Amino acid sequence: MLRVTFLGTGTSHGVPMIACDCMTCRSADPRDKRLRPSIYVELPDGTAILVDAGPDLRQQALRHDIRRVDAILLTHGHADQILGIDETRSFTANQQRPITCYGDAATLADIRQTFAYVFDPLTPRGGGLPELNLVTVEEPLTINGNEILPLRVCHGTRQILGFRFGAFAYLTDCSRIPEESWALLHNLDVLVLDALRTRPHPTHFSLGEAVEAARRIAARRTLFTHMCHDLPHEPTNGQLPEGMELAYDGLIVEL
Ligand SMILES: [Zn+2]
Ligand SMILES: [Zn+2]
Repeated sequence: MLRVTFLGTGTSHGVPMIACDCMTCRSADPRDKRLRPSIYVELPDGTAILVDAGPDLRQQALRHDIRRVDAILLTHGHADQILGIDETRSFTANQQRPITCYGDAATLADIRQTFAYVFDPLTPRGGGLPELNLVTVEEPLTINGNEILPLRVCHGTRQILGFRFGAFAYLTDCSRIPEESWALLHNLDVLVLDALRTRPHPTHFSLGEAVEAARRIAARRTLFTHMCHDLPHEPTNGQLPEGMELAYDGLIVEL
């Protein structure tokens, strides 16, 4: 069984946003509390994979009692995907070995730049540095014998990665799906797709665009993620077509 825990389903600001009094940010519905986007995937053989390591990773790991991360898959190098890298120290201390961290070349360059102190041999060791083994994603990607399919999506002008694990696919931060990737999205049980807000945005699908893409992909179940405070959970969810829902923090999907 594949088990996916939604650690965060919010946009880069999170919901509630700092200093916002809107209806969603003041909502009492726990599903309107969205940490930065990330999922924790447990594969049938027990391999545990973190997809993206955002600034809320500490809180997310504590909330879900995550003690082990065998590998990190990075979709891209924006702050809301990588600023939790320093928190991986807790996992490496537990596991007594570095964590292999997969990304495309641009993302690994972002990691080396943002966390330059980690890779600087002059930084004193023993002060607790993340121990990462950075590996450029190749196709197909194999982790502990499990095949994972990386696929390209457009995040504005930048091409970034989505990942497919069997009948489950995770495409956060996506404004367009390039032609070659549609063919890799057939026959999904669960699709997770970016849906930022109702109004158009240059680097993210609007909800309408996401619904349209989800119809074309036709997964048995589609869950939207990376929502901002323009999309209150309950009222938005009630208007979605059958088979499509907003994901929420803490949601667990098993397939
Ligand atoms: Zn708000
Ligand atoms: Zn991004």
